[in-house]
Amino acid sequence: MAVEKEGCDFREAPASAGMLNFLFHGLHRGVMLVNLITGREKIALNNVIIIGSGCAGLTSAIYAGRANLKPLVIDGLEPGGQLALTTMVENFPGFPDGILGPELIENMRKQAQRFGAEFKSGAITDVDLSKRPFKITAGNETYETLSLIIASGATARLIGLESERKLIGYGVSTCATCDGYFFRNKDIAVVGGGDSAMEEANFLSRFANKVYLVHRRSEFRASKIMVDRARANEKIQFVTPVVVEDIRDVSKGGVEKMILRNTQTKAVSELPVEGVFVAIGHEPNTKVFRGKLDMDENGYLLTHHGSQTKVPGVFAAGDVQDHHYRQAVTAAGSGCMAAIDAEKFLEAHPGL
Ligand code: NAP
Repeated sequence: MAVEKEGCDFREAPASAGMLNFLFHGLHRGVMLVNLITGREKIALNNVIIIGSGCAGLTSAIYAGRANLKPLVIDGLEPGGQLALTTMVENFPGFPDGILGPELIENMRKQAQRFGAEFKSGAITDVDLSKRPFKITAGNETYETLSLIIASGATARLIGLESERKLIGYGVSTCATCDGYFFRNKDIAVVGGGDSAMEEANFLSRFANKVYLVHRRSEFRASKIMVDRARANEKIQFVTPVVVEDIRDVSKGGVEKMILRNTQTKAVSELPVEGVFVAIGHEPNTKVFRGKLDMDENGYLLTHHGSQTKVPGVFAAGDVQDHHYRQAVTAAGSGCMAAIDAEKFLEAHPGL
């Protein structure tokens, strides 16, 4: 038997022993129901589940909502994604005076809700993509869905200092393209020794008075051409081999200096800067998809023909499949693509 409510139906699954009671959790998507006669659990079946509520996931939710698919968005560990961690966003089209990252995200969320998107909090702990409907598990909750949009993003690696975390958006940034403009004529630092750090240091030298390239080793993981380019840039000064011990001053709500320790001499020094760009890599949030979807060597999901993954009905959008552009507007664009692809997929498979 299948119960239909607001576009979703409920399929029967074997009940666990503990479910044979009079618990009634309500007719909502993703909520298990118990048929008291058959003693079987029923799990709400969704048209489309969107994993992640950053720019890509929310744009997917707006488009899927407007297509009347009643998407279910599972927030993930970082609701709002990386935009929720930034301050002013000046390069998202349509906001001539800029908009605060959290405000932009909140607006998108409301826009998605207006078109019928539902939100659940929780981090995905398992997925079964071997057959349809796909099963998505977030802790104790299990959801079923006919199509899936993965927009779980990538998390910028952080050094791990408490001061760094507290000053994000207040002088500490993980995105030079987003925030470089705010540091015109200032002395700033870029932390890292890979291609990203070199690229960001070069990019930031357009605005900053001086850019210190702070790295824990005297050798660089970055390609030689990128290192040479940074070395040739008069505004960039290399500071190595040092680890960042602290970023001050949290009590003043902004960046004034870094405390550095030389890894060879152990000498501690201060570096006065007004901004710190942490460029030590990103981690795509794809652990639960390992072995189930194709990924590149760094764990980013591989897509083809728009947002399609190797599993029909599973789509990917945003930074989880893009380590190159990583912009709010490109994430939003790919979120739109994924929703349209999911809609076309459901249309083409009416018997699912
Ligand atoms: P990456 O190559 O993994 O480099 C990360 C850097 O951060 C390394 O130098 C590493 O130091 C340092 N690091 C890591 N954890 C740290 C910590 N806790 N504290 C201090 N330093 C830490 O990452 P990426 O630079 O973002 O590059 C990622 C990929 O994108 C690479 O394949 C890269 O070639 C590519 N990329 C290419 C371009 C381009 O070609 N234009 C631009 C950007 C990125 P150690 O070296 O000591 O481990």
